[in-house]
Amino acid sequence: MARTVLPGQPGSPGSGFGRLLWIDATSNGVDHSSSAGARLHGVPAVGAQAEVEHEERRLREALEAAAVQLDALARATTDRAGPDIGAIFEAQAIFARDPGIIDPALAAVRAGATADEAIDRVAAEQAEILAGVEDAYFRERAADLRDVGRRVLDRLAGRTRPDLHHPDGTPAVVAADDLDPSTVAGLRPELVTGVALVAGAPNGHAAIVARALGIPLVLGLGGALHVGLDGRLVAIDGSAGRLVVDPDTADRAEPATDDSVAPKGGTQDPADGRAPHRELPLGIRIEANVGSVAEAEQAARAGADGIGLVRTELIFLGRTVAPGINEQRAVYRRILAAMDGRPVVFRTLDIGGDKPAGFETGELESNPALGVRGVRLGLRKPEVLETQLRALLEAAAGGELRVMLPMVATLDEVRAGRAALGRAADAALAAGAAIATEVRFGVMIEVPAAALMADALAPEVDFFSIGTNDLVQYTLAADRTNPALAELATPFQPAVLRLIATVCRAAAVHERPVGVCGEAAADPTAAAIFAGLGVTELSVGPRAVAAIRDAVACFDPETVRAVAAETLTATTSDEVRQIAARGLEGMAPISASG
Ligand code: PEP
Ligand code: MG
Repeated sequence: MARTVLPGQPGSPGSGFGRLLWIDATSNGVDHSSSAGARLHGVPAVGAQAEVEHEERRLREALEAAAVQLDALARATTDRAGPDIGAIFEAQAIFARDPGIIDPALAAVRAGATADEAIDRVAAEQAEILAGVEDAYFRERAADLRDVGRRVLDRLAGRTRPDLHHPDGTPAVVAADDLDPSTVAGLRPELVTGVALVAGAPNGHAAIVARALGIPLVLGLGGALHVGLDGRLVAIDGSAGRLVVDPDTADRAEPATDDSVAPKGGTQDPADGRAPHRELPLGIRIEANVGSVAEAEQAARAGADGIGLVRTELIFLGRTVAPGINEQRAVYRRILAAMDGRPVVFRTLDIGGDKPAGFETGELESNPALGVRGVRLGLRKPEVLETQLRALLEAAAGGELRVMLPMVATLDEVRAGRAALGRAADAALAAGAAIATEVRFGVMIEVPAAALMADALAPEVDFFSIGTNDLVQYTLAADRTNPALAELATPFQPAVLRLIATVCRAAAVHERPVGVCGEAAADPTAAAIFAGLGVTELSVGPRAVAAIRDAVACFDPETVRAVAAETLTATTSDEVRQIAARGLEGMAPISASG
């Protein structure tokens, strides 16, 4: 067949090759009305003996059906992809027949739970125990157990949820209209060589999760990507943002450097793979945004000065029950250990918006981006927020904890968040646990109300971190996941820059540091303007650390300050870009990046 190139947008770097596997977006988890979490809230507990027996039967049948399905999957994948891949599904089939899972689930049914509720709870609890084990093998099995739980839940609900992996175990490029982040989080990088989306946006969380997993992703392919391509051979290039259907040999060649985390400028220290420390102009620190232990390790290798944002919700996504304190503490400890003393800022759960979680939201919101997300959810679910805060305090025992709240809009929320932190510390101490000896408490500035009130917030926090992804979205009233609004939704909008300037001025009065952890921090031109306005920390994806460090190294303090001041007089985004292009001309990496 003729080679065809479908142009899209880069979502997550790297390249891959395989057969296209089309996923019907109506049954891949995007439709949250069918989530187990929602159903659990709506089903009354089962009491009568006949109902108990009915639920027991449903549970046994669903477990056995899932086990049989997994046996078949294990055989098929062993034949086609080798024993290592087949073993994944063999292990899952064993879980589905394990009395250690079946017995407590049946006991839960006898105690009044539905079959759905019982397997959901037991799989989550057992997975949590595995996740807390030191041995990496057992920790990895926790994800398998959760997969099994989801599979059984699907059987119980009669959902014919398509497998996100080829049944024969051959590596696939998964394609769909769109995928939610929890679905992307459930992809197995060893079986999925790439993701191609009709829609999507680079700042949407599906793309952010794909970057965290190192899965190449191309988005915005439009109608050229469709179900008719299911089964065709494709090559995906997440760096260039394109999908090649029926590729030739050259398309399949591995790219030399585009997904490498190594600094390009020859500044890497060969001894430990970490860039030697360089003082940057204006005292700027380059930090990393991470969503997993693996990404924290990558950030350390890339020479990040710290982690400016741990998106803790990425650890929670795709779960029907929130991870417990032991599992959370273990993950947070590993992230701190990966950074080996360099500062790490943990953001409390930012669930909601385009990051729904099955275990939290029973109610469907007509406008989730403006709904109960971030700190709003945490304050309504104090047990979830305080468990997380306690896990963080204990993970950082004897050292420093930096923690910040997402989606803050008011001073009341800041005070309530601080009070929750105090209660979490009291609970830990009352239980005899050791906790962090120093706590730095910050807030994200991503709602215009918070930016405008920064002078009131500053005295009550230790630092600000500006989330430009959301600040742009809420300032321009432009959905960050809608590619049609990309022109409008840019950090170069004067309204956004004026808000950032307001935050920096308030922070300076109270001597509080300001960081930017939105995707814009990785854009050298935007970074120069932010630095000129007074931002001192730029937190970017681990793969962007080296490039932005190189760019910042060329900043001339007087010039970036003058350019930033001039952008505040601009009235259009074009004018801002022109001022920046003119003023920053000559700073090598900036003029190269446009
Ligand atoms: C942001 O909004 O800029 C941010 C960093 O948070 P997230 O992208 O996770 O919403
Ligand atoms: Mg945000």
